[in-house]
Amino acid sequence: MTESKDPGSSRGARPANEGSARLLVVEDEEHLAAGLKLNFELEGYVVDVGSDAREAARLLASHEAYSAIVLDVMLPDLDGFSLCRRIREAGNYTPVIMLTARSNHSDRVAGLEAGADDYMVKPFDLGELLARVGSALRRRRWEKTGQSEGVKEILRFGNAEVDLASHRASVRGEKIDLTRLEVDLLRYFSQNPSRTLSRRELLEKVWNLRGYSNTRSVDNFIARLRRYFERDPSYPVYFQSVRGVGYRFEPDPEKDGGERGES
Ligand code: CA
Repeated sequence: MTESKDPGSSRGARPANEGSARLLVVEDEEHLAAGLKLNFELEGYVVDVGSDAREAARLLASHEAYSAIVLDVMLPDLDGFSLCRRIREAGNYTPVIMLTARSNHSDRVAGLEAGADDYMVKPFDLGELLARVGSALRRRRWEKTGQSEGVKEILRFGNAEVDLASHRASVRGEKIDLTRLEVDLLRYFSQNPSRTLSRRELLEKVWNLRGYSNTRSVDNFIARLRRYFERDPSYPVYFQSVRGVGYRFEPDPEKDGGERGES
């Protein structure tokens, strides 16, 4: 019923109470960096550009409050995967959207495994990049609001305990730091237990992408959740595949599969 106010539009980029959102663009190709800066500024963002990993690290150290980072993979001094990993290792969970010139599968997986929230393959559609950054910022504001109201979000299933607010999980005594998109996906699953969710629905509700058809990102993230939380990732019980459709989260698979005679 709110079709006319499409939340996928990038118009909502300006936070209500904290001035303009500040973005960091890390890209060594000058004309591309300048084009991104101009277009983001037209959308109301404040934009810093770092032309290599060293400059990006300096900017990150001097501005703690970046709302999102657009990070090119091919940089002169350090690849974007390594930079992303360092950012995460430093405890910084600012949304990272990677720009990759290569479209092969292993590169995409590498980006996501380095802790990136999303990636776009060059040449990319500028409008889509703007929309993705906008959705990353909306998620961040939503999380901030939840935290300021003291909302505790703990998700428990099997031997796993996930603190959705702090992005930390523990499974059988092992600690895991989750990325923002992993947390968003877990949150959506937890709100829809035992319900089959199509890849398209997940892209819409979690990734905030409407009418987008590349569902591989969903599969990659499910694979990561299984690696973290399943006893045997190749025989998942919590994050189940529904052939030809999508996925279903079963927080209590034994109860569901056991059929213990209760109708
Ligand atoms: Ca580059």
